[in-house]
Amino acid sequence: MSKKSAKTHDAAISRRRFLESAGAAGLATAIVSLAGTARAQTKASKNAVMYRGTPNGGRRCSGCIYFQPGKRACTRVAGDISPNGWCAIWRKR
Ligand code: SF4
Repeated sequence: MSKKSAKTHDAAISRRRFLESAGAAGLATAIVSLAGTARAQTKASKNAVMYRGTPNGGRRCSGCIYFQPGKRACTRVAGDISPNGWCAIWRKR
């Protein structure tokens, strides 16, 4: 193989490696993005967070940042959520 031919060959390999790397990076980004979406859509079960339908002192779902007023729902816990309920991941609104 001549020197010029070897350079052309090396350039082709570098270009191919770059494209393969870019493809792999794009795929990895897509996978991480999908994983983030799946995680965001997963809610804990009531049992997992020790949910109960009664307040804990002055703490109740209606005063929690995760409660969705008017929906009887929570962004973190699955199922019907009473505004008077409470669970272990309660956070002041
Ligand atoms: S206390 Fe907060 S996180 Fe727990 S169920 Fe009620 S609204 Fe959801």
